[in-house]
Amino acid sequence: MDIDFSPIELIHLPLENDILVDVLRLDMMHPLINGNKWFKLKYNLLAAQELGYSTIATFGGAYSNHIAATAAASQLIGLQSVGFIRGEKAPILSPTLLQAQRNAMHLEFLPRDVYRNNRSSMMTEMSSKYYFVDEGGAGYLGVKGAAEILDLVENVSSYQYIYSAVGTGTTLAGLINGSFAYQHVVGVSVMKNNFELESDIRKYLKDKNRVFELRQEYHFGGYAKKTPELVDFMNAIWKRWHLPTDFVYTAKSLFGLMCDLSIGRIPSGSKILFIHTGGLQGNLSLKDNVLDF
Ligand SMILES: *Cc1c(COP(=O)(O)O)cnc(C)c1O
Repeated sequence: MDIDFSPIELIHLPLENDILVDVLRLDMMHPLINGNKWFKLKYNLLAAQELGYSTIATFGGAYSNHIAATAAASQLIGLQSVGFIRGEKAPILSPTLLQAQRNAMHLEFLPRDVYRNNRSSMMTEMSSKYYFVDEGGAGYLGVKGAAEILDLVENVSSYQYIYSAVGTGTTLAGLINGSFAYQHVVGVSVMKNNFELESDIRKYLKDKNRVFELRQEYHFGGYAKKTPELVDFMNAIWKRWHLPTDFVYTAKSLFGLMCDLSIGRIPSGSKILFIHTGGLQGNLSLKDNVLDF
């Protein structure tokens, strides 16, 4: 699978207390395939090719980074793609869906109850025609790909902490599997009250007893919700470091890290690797004047 990725940048953010944060800019990998979603897709796409499928199918909402990435990655490697989208077709398609269409994804809209209840039966019924990837790219092959994220970082053993945003937990499970046992892997959940997360993640771990940390208090009201405080934070981070974040995932994870630092959860002298998981296309759903970038 030959896709030209730009070299990944690592930016160094010196902070107080002799703490260093390095940001792994997965958002800069490729103009269309953003961040962690590529890693979650990689082994799914390889499996589809090996099994002789010509079409990838998957599920997602109208603003889904996973839909955007699946469309782009499929087109780049010469597979067709179908996106089953949650909810009736809106009169004006979201920027995400328009982009997916430009990348040749065929869109099918499912009423919400059908989307909720019939996904697994659809996958079974159409399994000879389509290679299905789960909603969000979740699952074992996604975890396997996400474990390779840390291979991009030189001297990865020198970090005591690794921070990432968490949706389904697939990426965090990969990061845990790809990290050293002494490293603290911390996931900031972007959903409210997702109490299944811990066990969802643990079932994918190579070392079932591995300790990892989840932050559940930085969700800003829940999945894809935002407050003026979050938007101000995003603009402040842009002003301070020229680092763009998205309001669904990376703004919340970086906010979580900054709060952890300010309440002294991280000892001085620590080195932290913050994974910028991408997802900037999600900001296209915001009004033009909300963000300074
Ligand atoms: C999907 C996504 C995540 C969450 O990944 P999971 O593997 O579902 O936990 C984090 N950040 C961004 C930008 C994403 O698009």
